[in-house]
Amino acid sequence: MATSTAPASNAFDDARSQLRAVAGRIGLDAGMLDVLSNCIREFTVNFPVLMDDGSVRVFTGYRIHHNEVRGPVKGGLRYSLNVSLDEVRALSMWMTWKCAVVGLPYGGAKGGVVVDPRALSKGELERLTRRFATEISVIIGPDEDIPAPDMGTDGQTMAWIMDTYSMLRGHSVPAVVTGKPVSIGGSVGRVEATGRGVLFTAMKACADRGMSLKGARVAVQGFGNVGSVAAKLLDDAGAIIVALSDTNGAIYKEDGLGDIDAILAAQRQHGFIPEGHPGVHITNQELLALDVDILIPAALEGQIHRGNAGAVRAKMIIEAANGPTTPEADAVLNAAGVFVVPDILANAGGVVVSYFEWVQDLQSFFWEEHEVETRLQRIMDRAYDEVKAIREREQCTMREAAYILGVSRVVEAIKVRGIFP
Ligand code: GLU
Repeated sequence: MATSTAPASNAFDDARSQLRAVAGRIGLDAGMLDVLSNCIREFTVNFPVLMDDGSVRVFTGYRIHHNEVRGPVKGGLRYSLNVSLDEVRALSMWMTWKCAVVGLPYGGAKGGVVVDPRALSKGELERLTRRFATEISVIIGPDEDIPAPDMGTDGQTMAWIMDTYSMLRGHSVPAVVTGKPVSIGGSVGRVEATGRGVLFTAMKACADRGMSLKGARVAVQGFGNVGSVAAKLLDDAGAIIVALSDTNGAIYKEDGLGDIDAILAAQRQHGFIPEGHPGVHITNQELLALDVDILIPAALEGQIHRGNAGAVRAKMIIEAANGPTTPEADAVLNAAGVFVVPDILANAGGVVVSYFEWVQDLQSFFWEEHEVETRLQRIMDRAYDEVKAIREREQCTMREAAYILGVSRVVEAIKVRGIFP
């Protein structure tokens, strides 16, 4: 996202401070807090890739496991120039809480390669992915660590990883990754899952706050897989999408942008929101400050920060991205009465359907779309209700309530398993 005005924030510092904020409420002792504040495994690889022009370039990649006490670790792989050790650590910690909040039998992981995937040819991307998959093949596997798509990666990336891992093992292992194309063991509904989960969350949050989703004015920051699907489904549900952004900037139309499908198609074709759209062009910062009912950050972490939180006028924020709001911004938003539905609840739809995909692969028994959607909604609704009940009991924010739920589930598993040896 072109939001250079964000003061430099460290995602891992933010993730740790969110954890510390609930430590007192759930009575975490210093030892337990220390366990949860650290990632159990941090794997860094520097690997060569043969480029199309015959040169060799070395790329750096990471795969980090935050906690595996509730099951094999799960989380996406990100290809971006912003990838860093601390970013991946934060994202892996958020995966631990997210999986626990929605009750999946997984721990948290994340990975990434420092690369701009748009600057590589398809052949270069394939060679990079296959070499990276080989490097991390020693720590991934269907029983231990199951990668998935994230920013800059997609079903094709997962297919290359699945194929590489399978070649190394000598037989097909579809359950080693999720988010694969359906033709090789992917699940129907996985591509839309995070955006669909955001829709289900928006429906619950509107009912919770006595707001109507039909007619609600919505601004979406980020038009990648998550933002574009969320915008489309919210539009279908009767919300009015007034603003959308991608890395080039944002478009805004007070009475609604109109045909979201057409914007999506143009974006797919040209890679950016089309010039000449009747909406006015605004900056990403202006989008975040729009007077809307619902603001959906669906881009990078740290977008709503100390420097711009005071300008937010939305009634509700639904965090489709991971870590879009810094703890300092959170305090400002809470004081202003903005209702924030946190990432570890709101964007969990992706990993929920990843779980369905993994289960289907392990059983070699595949579900129909309506089963995926019904089960996804059931899990998202239940998690929302559980978080809401804690919020009401503890008189706290939705984020604190989600952390209380997620962290407590992890702590309970650590206690019952015990510390080895
Ligand atoms: N990358 C997604 C997330 O941040 C999905 C992870 C997964 O499906 O394992 O939740």
